[in-house]
Amino acid sequence: MSELFLDEETYDYLWLTDRSNTKAQKILRRYHGCNDRPRCQCLTDERNRELVIKARGPRFYLARKAETSHHHAEWCLLYEPPETGGPSAKQKPAVQYRKISS
Ligand SMILES: [Zn+2]
Repeated sequence: MSELFLDEETYDYLWLTDRSNTKAQKILRRYHGCNDRPRCQCLTDERNRELVIKARGPRFYLARKAETSHHHAEWCLLYEPPETGGPSAKQKPAVQYRKISS
């Protein structure tokens, strides 16, 4: 389970990012634009696992900083393998269309 550390409190990642959770939204609003940033607790090394609180309309959400997704443990919800940068990685479409055979 991914846990975030923010201002000496630990929050469950899914709880904090549930946009229908008014309590969590209130916390994100309070720290939005603040120097206190949520930090993922999946590993204890020194790599940057800070998240940025962003606002979209009236809602607040968490975004990873660029180039930090592979700093997380592989079991972490925020983990993504490092970008290989090769052309094959870019060719993969975000949405997969199924071929309709007639
Ligand atoms: Zn993590």
